[in-house]
Amino acid sequence: MEEEAWDDLSNIPADPPVMRKLCPSCLRPAVVCWCSALPPERLNPRSTVILLQHPAEEKRCLRTAPMLQLGLAADKCLVFKGKKFPQPKHEGLETVLNQPNTLLLYPSKTAIDIRDMENDTDSYNLVLIDGTWPQAKAIYASCPILHKIKQVKLMTSNASSYIIRTQPTEGCLSTLETAAEALSQLEKDPKYTEQLIQPLHALCKYQLENGAVTHQSKEFLLKTKTYPKLIGKRLSKLLRSTNEENVEVQ
Ligand SMILES: [Zn+2]
Repeated sequence: MEEEAWDDLSNIPADPPVMRKLCPSCLRPAVVCWCSALPPERLNPRSTVILLQHPAEEKRCLRTAPMLQLGLAADKCLVFKGKKFPQPKHEGLETVLNQPNTLLLYPSKTAIDIRDMENDTDSYNLVLIDGTWPQAKAIYASCPILHKIKQVKLMTSNASSYIIRTQPTEGCLSTLETAAEALSQLEKDPKYTEQLIQPLHALCKYQLENGAVTHQSKEFLLKTKTYPKLIGKRLSKLLRSTNEENVEVQ
């Protein structure tokens, strides 16, 4: 009987069943939707952000590109997916990459400080590679057209102190933070950094508040009665008895 009870235990899902009601905008479960932290109105910078997105980026569980896409006016954030650019499926991208007002945000030796760009009336096409750092390097190396674009780099990052402390996995926050900071520096307007990053702060806050709970073991959740509805009688009896044994040993 004890064996059967432990079989029951192993069949319980690690996370409580959730209602998978998705937000129609960010497509995340309603409980972790960050849409309320988006700018009240989509921001409309002079420049356009162009993301060259590594295919693996779309599969990551914590992606920041959608926060950028929903925070900016629809025509101010364009996403092209692939490992090589441009491909025939990337409609209009080659033209953009060849325009004189296109900048590639990439920290090469020839990159200049983005704050030194003229910003009076110019609108730029700001190209970012969306992926981990090794993926970005690989994309850059395999796309000669990117080498010809004027390259810029960010010298400071206002948001980094917050990000580093709360970042759940390495590299997952860079796209939003980088694009927001670059827009603020290019357009000499702090609102891009301040407003675009809010959904990320909301998500980090949620994860900090809830992360510990979801990572606790099944046994812990059962013993603390977080799973009351899922426990059968024989299993809860067994858990009670093991609890009592533990107490006695101590
Ligand atoms: Zn949402």
